[in-house]
Amino acid sequence: MTQPIFAAQPYAGIATFGRVPFATDAVGADVAILGVPYDGSVSYRSGTRFGPRAIREQSLLLWGYNNAQQVAPFTSQKVVDLGDVDVVPPDIRATHHQIELAASRVLAAGAKLLTLGGDHSISLPLLRSHAQKHGPVAVIHFDAHPDTWDSEYPGQPYSHGTPFKRAIEEGLIDVEAYVQLGIRGPTAGPQDYADALALGARMITLDEFRRRSLDDVLQEVRARVGSRPTYVTLDIDVVDPAFAPGTGTPEVGGLTSYEMLQLVRGLRGLNLVGFDLVEVSPPFDHANITSILAANLAFEFLSL
Ligand code: MN
Ligand code: MN
Repeated sequence: MTQPIFAAQPYAGIATFGRVPFATDAVGADVAILGVPYDGSVSYRSGTRFGPRAIREQSLLLWGYNNAQQVAPFTSQKVVDLGDVDVVPPDIRATHHQIELAASRVLAAGAKLLTLGGDHSISLPLLRSHAQKHGPVAVIHFDAHPDTWDSEYPGQPYSHGTPFKRAIEEGLIDVEAYVQLGIRGPTAGPQDYADALALGARMITLDEFRRRSLDDVLQEVRARVGSRPTYVTLDIDVVDPAFAPGTGTPEVGGLTSYEMLQLVRGLRGLNLVGFDLVEVSPPFDHANITSILAANLAFEFLSL
């Protein structure tokens, strides 16, 4: 890999993710990083449009070797940073179209995609691209919220509360192998969870996770997805706001950052085809806690 000019100090130079080369396409790459600075569909606090930039900034302190996974993900494979998708702030459909085009280009080049959001609505076009390549994919969905509402706003099928309902309707997810983990918090009513279950999701609430061991939960998740092509989507609000305050719809009583790292590491060896990490909102972050965690989680994804 070509060494960038300003590689010496973490605080110097231009921030691509982990200082990997910037590229305009993913040809010849194993993994491409793509930012989606879009927060047009959130239901409460905005600011995730600043997520990709903040995560890249904090990624500069990733020294390169992952001791837990015993791999140097920036040198054992070719990783490039494609910059950000050209989003269309007032138009979610146009934005989703742009995301799908960008993602499909990466997959057609034979690279895997790691996307940094952005709000959770972006998972829908990403799943469209991945399902087009692999067929309906298994999905491991870390989140405080099921995101399976039919609609958050009258007549609006697309928002950050609906992507997995739409994805299931569009046949993008193999529902036998759709696992939600970390779900918790108050909802509008009992129907929110019932709706997710009716769609076929295996919902592991935070309460259930707490009652069981992390290894036991991982074993179930791994057994459920098996050898299927598996897409991982991580909404940072699955982590407790004490560890990840910089997000739009925080829910108390979540995972610790260490548990989140262990859960991602526990996906090693699965047939993983794509990742996204969403809902990091830097304006609500403190001391970059959330974007530092997000950068490390993306590093764990790359290490898988
Ligand atoms: Mn959420
Ligand atoms: Mn979400």
